[in-house]
Amino acid sequence: MSNLDIKIGLEVHTQITSLKTKLFCSCPSDYRGKPPNTNVCPVCLGLPGALPVVNIEAIRAALMVALALKCEISDVLVFTRKHYFYPDLPKNYQISQYDGPGSIPIAKNGYIVIGVDGGLKKVRIRRINIEEDPGKIVYPTGSLLTSKYTLIDYNRSGIALLEIVSEPDLRSPKEARAFIDKLRSILEHLGLVNTELEGALRVDANISLAGGSRVEIKNISSAKDVERALTYEIIRQSKALETGEKVRRETRHWDAIRKVTVPLRVKEFEEDYRYFPDPDLPPVKISLKLIEEIYQKLPELPDQRIERFIKTYGLSDYLATVLVSEKVLADYFEECVKYCGNPEIIGNIVVNDFKRWVDEMDIEVSKAVKILTPNQLCQLVYMLNNNIINIKILKEIIPKVLKYNKDVNTIVYEENYIDISNEEVLMRIIDEVIKENPKAVKDALINPKAVNYLVGQVMKKTRGRANPELTNKLIIKKLKELSGTP
Ligand SMILES: [Zn+2]
Repeated sequence: MSNLDIKIGLEVHTQITSLKTKLFCSCPSDYRGKPPNTNVCPVCLGLPGALPVVNIEAIRAALMVALALKCEISDVLVFTRKHYFYPDLPKNYQISQYDGPGSIPIAKNGYIVIGVDGGLKKVRIRRINIEEDPGKIVYPTGSLLTSKYTLIDYNRSGIALLEIVSEPDLRSPKEARAFIDKLRSILEHLGLVNTELEGALRVDANISLAGGSRVEIKNISSAKDVERALTYEIIRQSKALETGEKVRRETRHWDAIRKVTVPLRVKEFEEDYRYFPDPDLPPVKISLKLIEEIYQKLPELPDQRIERFIKTYGLSDYLATVLVSEKVLADYFEECVKYCGNPEIIGNIVVNDFKRWVDEMDIEVSKAVKILTPNQLCQLVYMLNNNIINIKILKEIIPKVLKYNKDVNTIVYEENYIDISNEEVLMRIIDEVIKENPKAVKDALINPKAVNYLVGQVMKKTRGRANPELTNKLIIKKLKELSGTP
């Protein structure tokens, strides 16, 4: 892939879910789950004569993000009309911001630092816009391509969105995913976006290969799917390049079910949108005092938190970075440590077991932390530290707790997981194993490494409950007896 000169830029649309009302009217912003077209008013339905009034809290939120992404902030807020016809847009224009003649976005020229292959990389942010979300198009009998008819729900129309646009600095699907993960963590730490809500974060990805035409993939809904969609495009475009076929400049749709991109339309050019400043919304001055005030109140951000985790808890770079990649995961870790100390053990369990299983089972972290609560995890750590269970068993218990939503103690007793550290009990099992494996015993008498096989057999017989160190010690003792050496 490296010689293809891959250039990827991302446009992330994120709803400011912490707001109480929409961007230009007083309709509630929690539109999810409401009957269609009940969360609306003349403003967000775009009825003639209705006048928008800007939600000042949305501006404050945009300024917080701008500061967190180290952007230059505009001293004036200008809203622009972006014209296009689409059924989800009742005014036939979207109130947005434009970086061009007569207009300016709220912030530009920032950056995000992402972790790439063990190093750090600065990805430039071109601009941040505030804009309104369109309504939602529903395909009741299939997808965009297969549904027999289309329904429109304007409950979402007018929700405050931030459009965060990167420069094409990303060089692989993996980097694109790291960028979104980092941005998401920043938005979560700012307390502005609950990214687990359906549709709260949508991504358009631009990709070009070997200096060819730029293809845009629209409306991808997760970081994982951004990685998948871009990988698909790289394969599609490089095949086209090989056969001498021309890659068209176009917009494509990511079909998350079939895991392919399909052509949507030939890309519009900027001039098609007929941008002009919205006469209903006069420019608002953004004072230095307001920026200063917001800056002073910024909460701890991911980079600062990673540093603190390393310093305060003695975690490795890797553990700290993975924990902070999701705010809820980092919060969970800190809560556990507050409860029972042992930051290194807990950090390892949270990253290598808890997070791994949560991903594998496709559970939301916020739900999983309510199943394996800090109290429950601390009970496991207690049992581990007191040799009631061993680490192998602990690793087996975690997915069971998550899967069956059962108490840790119940699982330990029901499954008879208690560590066997009783020498007499262990010796009986070891004797059996030695009798059943004469060849392995012979090997072990010559080659100390072969002892591991016998330990493994004891583990198998006890379903992992044997204390590994003690088993090892007892087997060696037994072998010495057999060989007659003192
Ligand atoms: Zn409204």
